[in-house]
Amino acid sequence: MSTIHKLVELQEIDAQLQEIEALLGDLPEKVADLKSEEERLIVSVETGKTRLKEIEVQLGKNELNIQSCRDNIDKHKDQLSLVTTNRQYDAMMAEIETIQSTLQELETQSLELMEEKSELETSVNDQEANLATLSSDLKERRKKLEKRYADTAAEKDSLESAREIKVSGIDERYLRQYKRVSDARDGVAVVPANGNACGGCGAVVPPQIVSEIRNNLTLHTCDVCGRFLFWKHG
Ligand SMILES: [Zn+2]
Repeated sequence: MSTIHKLVELQEIDAQLQEIEALLGDLPEKVADLKSEEERLIVSVETGKTRLKEIEVQLGKNELNIQSCRDNIDKHKDQLSLVTTNRQYDAMMAEIETIQSTLQELETQSLELMEEKSELETSVNDQEANLATLSSDLKERRKKLEKRYADTAAEKDSLESAREIKVSGIDERYLRQYKRVSDARDGVAVVPANGNACGGCGAVVPPQIVSEIRNNLTLHTCDVCGRFLFWKHG
């Protein structure tokens, strides 16, 4: 069998494999996109929940500290009536002010934490809702994709083994050329001549070349698109 015959058959196998790929459409890509979006949301929800726990703990601590500051201030105020010198009085007042400023800081921090908590809760809830929708969408598409894989698996396997056998009988340099043209020309590297025109790009094929490819023995490629040319008899 001449090289051009083998290349024609390889092209037929590849065309069928391309049809199978086309059946899958953009499903594999969609599934991969959804999967990474799902992973991102899961991480984000987890991070949010961890932060919420930290905030809870911090708010609990602050509450205790706030209470203890208040008790402390009360205690100092009670003691104010017992002081006998101005110096003692000033020292006591200074101490009360220090505690009051700590108290204020704690209260401000708690307010900020509560604000953060409420925003975070909303966002975690939203993300969880998104995640639920996304996960069910992903599940649906995965099922579809798996079904399409399964439907075409047997045909694809047999085409691939046929391809392997075919490829093993073709000279390496023609295979490289075939692959290069196929990659550049939407998977079509071998085309019939249409009278005196290339069946791929329509460029004129010189009469001498046409007569040479008519016997399908000599290997010729189109000068314009680089595709292998063959003659379709009958
Ligand atoms: Zn051409």
